[in-house]
Amino acid sequence: MPTDSTSFEGGCTCRAVRYRLTSKPMFVHCCHCRWCQRETGASFALNAMIESQRVLVLAGVPDVVNTPSNSGKGQRIARCPACWIALWSNYGGAGDLIRFVRVGTLDEPDRFPPDIHIFTASKQPWVVLPPGVPAVPEYYRTQDYWPPESYARRTAALG
Ligand SMILES: [Zn+2]
Ligand SMILES: [Zn+2]
Repeated sequence: MPTDSTSFEGGCTCRAVRYRLTSKPMFVHCCHCRWCQRETGASFALNAMIESQRVLVLAGVPDVVNTPSNSGKGQRIARCPACWIALWSNYGGAGDLIRFVRVGTLDEPDRFPPDIHIFTASKQPWVVLPPGVPAVPEYYRTQDYWPPESYARRTAALG
């Protein structure tokens, strides 16, 4: 895939579920909260936020699992029904308008490094953040960090 392409494919480990993003995501979170650490079994989660309409399922039908979340509003995690790898989720009040795609499930995950590090108050101490990338101890105001184009996409998606 050429590096200037604007569609991006990914899927689960067993390949029963495959999907395509039809554009670049709006914004990429690297979340260091304890919840993401537990859910990944690792040190952070890497989520690419994109309009649900720009996520095309090419194969398989993900199962949606209701899962508790840090906010208390819950998240709905779409998982492969065979291998149960988490592909994306959506949170709380926004419904399924915006998806948080797990960057590690993309075929070329290197293409979406974090736009911001969040919940760094619980960052595991061995993780050293790169200079030049915003980092906040908890959360942030969208309009303070998102590029205007992405913010406009978000506004349009949420209606
Ligand atoms: Zn699978
Ligand atoms: Zn988190």
